[in-house]
Amino acid sequence: MKLLLHTCCAPCSVYCIKSLRGEDIEPTVYWYNPNIHPYMEYKARRDALKQYTESIGVQAIFEEDYGLREFCKNVINDLENRCSKYCYKIRLEQTAKFAKENGYDTFSTTLLISPYQQHEVLKQLGEEVAKKYDLTFLYRDFRPGFREGQKEARELGLYMQKYCGCVFSEEQIFITRTNTKPNLPEGFEFLPVKRNIIINKEKNDKNQYIGLLLEADPSEKMIEKYLIDGEVFVLRYKDDVACIAVVTKLDNDTVELKNIVTKEEFRGKGYAKKMIKYLADNYKQRYKKMLVGTTENNIPFYVKQGFDRYEKTIKNFFIDNYDKEIWDEDLKCTDIYYYSKNLKKKENS
Ligand code: SF4
Repeated sequence: MKLLLHTCCAPCSVYCIKSLRGEDIEPTVYWYNPNIHPYMEYKARRDALKQYTESIGVQAIFEEDYGLREFCKNVINDLENRCSKYCYKIRLEQTAKFAKENGYDTFSTTLLISPYQQHEVLKQLGEEVAKKYDLTFLYRDFRPGFREGQKEARELGLYMQKYCGCVFSEEQIFITRTNTKPNLPEGFEFLPVKRNIIINKEKNDKNQYIGLLLEADPSEKMIEKYLIDGEVFVLRYKDDVACIAVVTKLDNDTVELKNIVTKEEFRGKGYAKKMIKYLADNYKQRYKKMLVGTTENNIPFYVKQGFDRYEKTIKNFFIDNYDKEIWDEDLKCTDIYYYSKNLKKKENS
């Protein structure tokens, strides 16, 4: 098998190459990413990949195209769908074209490792492009190795980017993270927290987060599952955690608030409410709605926070998904109720 591996960056390539080599497949790395802006960022990622591929002795081809203008022209009228409608396509198409012209029989992409990319769309596009060029698309779900690869990349001192690539993804990351925040008393601050601090069993920090999250969701197994893809936010008071929340992405329009809990001594002061406001501000530029699944007792609280649209009920959710009975005060939980909040709606503060 002669494999051309479209490669978006060095950190994502670490696990993919290792895993392919584990299958006795020697890939040729193919750099083609006209979606990375500005130029110094493009150069930093490209040079990191050059350095890394040389260090591990893998063949690498660099297709130089800093395509800022062309990229912007093509995505500007549909920014919401720029990844699936343009960015994935051009990169996969060019990879397949190069593969065909240069005697490769299959191609793949390191984008398949990222939990932030639209995995199923990538798979489908890869297969479509392969058909067009009479090649095969080597599909692998590399996502389980994402954290391991990123950890290794960090240890190797590789350049680690902070956003996906295009100027629009840069805007999303930096503007939404520093957006208007609710007023807080002195000493309090909101902080995004790295998931690996929470999941990593060696870290002392784990207990203070997981312990608190378990108060709202008594299954460590469930919590660890949504922590894999979730974004974690903490409201800190000095060195203490006052409130914590985990949010996951459901689709291009929707995020889900999976867990929110305030530490006992901070309860009754409106911190969960401030956290929800902060999360809504944080996500409103990228998403249209935020979903929450709740027990019956908590519906009034969420409705008050703007989760005023009923979405669905999943019957027997707490019976089917938890090992033991779940009680919310004196109510035995069986069904879960989903409500959503319109993030685009203007709110009274
Ligand atoms: S967010 Fe990433 S995948 Fe989507 S268009 Fe921008 S660079 Fe491409």
